[in-house]
Amino acid sequence: MTRQFTYSGSPAHIVFGNGASLEVGAWVERLGRGRALVLSTSHQAGDGDALAKKLGALAAGTFAGAAMHTPVEVTEVALAKAHEVNADCVVALGGGSTTGLGKAIAYRTDLPQIVIPTTYAGSEVTPILGQTENGLKTTVRDAKILPEVVIYDPELTVGLPIAMSVTSGLNAIAHAAEALYAQDRNPVSTLMAVEGLRALSQALPVLIEEPRNLAARGDALYGAWLCGTVLGTVGMALHHKICHTLGGSFDMPHAETHAVMLPHTIGFNAVAVPELLKPVADIFGGSPGGRLHDFAKSVGAPLTLRELGLEQGDLDRAAEIATKNPYWNPRPFDRAAIRALLQDAWEGRRPQ
Ligand code: NAD
Repeated sequence: MTRQFTYSGSPAHIVFGNGASLEVGAWVERLGRGRALVLSTSHQAGDGDALAKKLGALAAGTFAGAAMHTPVEVTEVALAKAHEVNADCVVALGGGSTTGLGKAIAYRTDLPQIVIPTTYAGSEVTPILGQTENGLKTTVRDAKILPEVVIYDPELTVGLPIAMSVTSGLNAIAHAAEALYAQDRNPVSTLMAVEGLRALSQALPVLIEEPRNLAARGDALYGAWLCGTVLGTVGMALHHKICHTLGGSFDMPHAETHAVMLPHTIGFNAVAVPELLKPVADIFGGSPGGRLHDFAKSVGAPLTLRELGLEQGDLDRAAEIATKNPYWNPRPFDRAAIRALLQDAWEGRRPQ
């Protein structure tokens, strides 16, 4: 085999360990800052307040309005708050929605970010921001968007509801699966993807039995870091494009949509690149699409777009939007192929 690749390491600081979030104040100071705006969703407002209390004089204020798909209106209110309290950095505590808000602020102000992730979405290690305006989700990639510091503390994830743990874990698995066949993959991204798949495939079945198992929480978060890192370093394809369409244009829930689509998109692409998807076959024990479906079912994930609230009448438009602009995928497709794939996902048919 002839090897040919390029590889760039991420400049972010990654801190991982039980209790690591206690170091957040030290990281604010290490960045040379002293007035952090603490971000969260309204659901995690109490955790945001507790973190601000922990930061003491290093916290300039809190903003607990982060929302899914990073609506620009929310970013504008948060920016006003950042100006009002004269914030010199942001600390985002939560899942991809809160991370997204921190990134949106950094993109506009270049304020440094510290992220403390509490789901497995992986946004904290990518230089990508997806934001929504007038019902349309657009994506930007910029060095300013990549958070400077990420603190992974498994202890903060023991309370992540199990349904969310499962769908968020499958969201992470989707990053790694698509990284395996990315055009710009490199030996490091493939190693990380395989290790991320292994960690999550082992952790999720434990967590559905014992949601507070700290060792399994640590494995899942470790897998999320690896999967997120490959999402940030190599290009994604059909799976992410379809989920982006369903999230941005149909307001479908992010992690759940990834969970439902995963067996279908990977099963579709496995026909073209079985060798590249061999790690998925090895880890999940058979044909990638069928075995990912079985795995999702075994951990209690949603299996149909129907149960997520998508109308069957929306499938034509979804197929049209998802195929409007050409993008690279290992298996060529047309609108009819994507319409059929969406029908299968809507019904929850087990792929081959
Ligand atoms: P989320 O951040 O919306 O979280 C879902 C809900 O769970 C929220 O109410 C949140 O407060 C709550 N929650 C989070 N952690 C919790 C915990 N430990 N305990 C209890 N409740 C908790 O969901 P998500 O799936 O993490 O993120 C989805 C968003 O992230 C989408 O907008 C998606 O586009 C974005 N995303 C972006 C990237 C990127 O690279 N740009 C990557 C992945 C996801």
